[in-house]
Amino acid sequence: PDPLPGASGYAEIDLGAIRANVASLKERAGDAALMAVVKADGYGHGAVPSARAALAGGADWLGVAQLSEAVAVRAAGATAPMLTWLYVPGADLGSAVLADIDLGISSVAALDELLRATTRQGKTARIHLKVDTGLARNGAYGSDWTALVAATARAAAEGAVAVVGVFSHFAYADAPDHPTVRSQQQTFEAAVAELERTGIRPQVRHLANSAATLTNPSAAYDMVRPGLAVYGLSPIPDLGTPADYGLREAMRLISHVALVKDVPAGQGVSYGHTYVTDRATRLALVPLGYADGLPRNASNAGPMLHRGVRQTIAGRVCMDQVVLDLGPDADVAPGDPVVLFGRGEDGEPTAQDWATATGTISYEIVTRVSSRLPRVYV
Ligand code: PLP
Repeated sequence: PDPLPGASGYAEIDLGAIRANVASLKERAGDAALMAVVKADGYGHGAVPSARAALAGGADWLGVAQLSEAVAVRAAGATAPMLTWLYVPGADLGSAVLADIDLGISSVAALDELLRATTRQGKTARIHLKVDTGLARNGAYGSDWTALVAATARAAAEGAVAVVGVFSHFAYADAPDHPTVRSQQQTFEAAVAELERTGIRPQVRHLANSAATLTNPSAAYDMVRPGLAVYGLSPIPDLGTPADYGLREAMRLISHVALVKDVPAGQGVSYGHTYVTDRATRLALVPLGYADGLPRNASNAGPMLHRGVRQTIAGRVCMDQVVLDLGPDADVAPGDPVVLFGRGEDGEPTAQDWATATGTISYEIVTRVSSRLPRVYV
């Protein structure tokens, strides 16, 4: 039964799949703990329900990028240890410390700002030092790492901070044989050794995202930090499908036919008439568009399943609507469900099929499903 008949569309989220994915990832991680990454609203699946499902599946930690995401998940009642790693100058670090949110620290400037906040509060801040081992993104690089270690050792000696973790992030986790994988691990191990020479021994050293969790047991250290795989998508589609990795896609994106019409041959369809009917045919209007998260370059490319048959968007993706050309004799009625993507078990496309059709990655397909579409949890 359709839980939302009459809705333009909705994303159905299978929380049992998230639970099972985490259990499967945890088994792969062996003795390492697991931090489920629930940033970007749980990769579009809803941060709070995803966090609960991940914890029920055995996740030990939660991880997010933005402080506001961590505060929201904490406020919803999650008591598990939680890390936020994307420090922005001026952030309210004091509130994070009071909410028992661990902070990823990538620079002396961030540490200094944290120390100003904790001095006011008198509470020890829990931090994870982030070292840039070659991604050249967030994290302290080269001599900046040495300076961060020295400043942290002073702050730890004063009791202002407790160094709970040390972490980094791969550039090529999706190419397990790439030489940077090994060199980043060596740099990471050297950086941890440098930290430990000050007498600081963090409880958790963590480096592995989904791809590394699935392919590189030597990168598990004390904790793995998967995001995409928690939601049942493969971070390395060229090497394996979700099923190959023991994962199940958690999101199904559904819409309904809004309007049916017959048009003659030679009719241009949607803005710019980039699609022109080659025969008299029946068109169906599907009321989702780029404001709902469909990539605009899914024009004449995005796949969907209607009544068991794969269709492709005819013409441009508009803000709120797309059109399907179902053929002259199509059996179609307003209200028919249309599945944009799911697990593929009933012939529907997958999020990976959408990524392939639009030249992107499945991460982008699920995270861009907009807040306008309700999430229905099953
Ligand atoms: N750790 C960090 C620091 C990240 O930025 C991300 C996401 O980009 C992840 C872990 C999770 O990555 P993935 O979704 O590839 O597992």
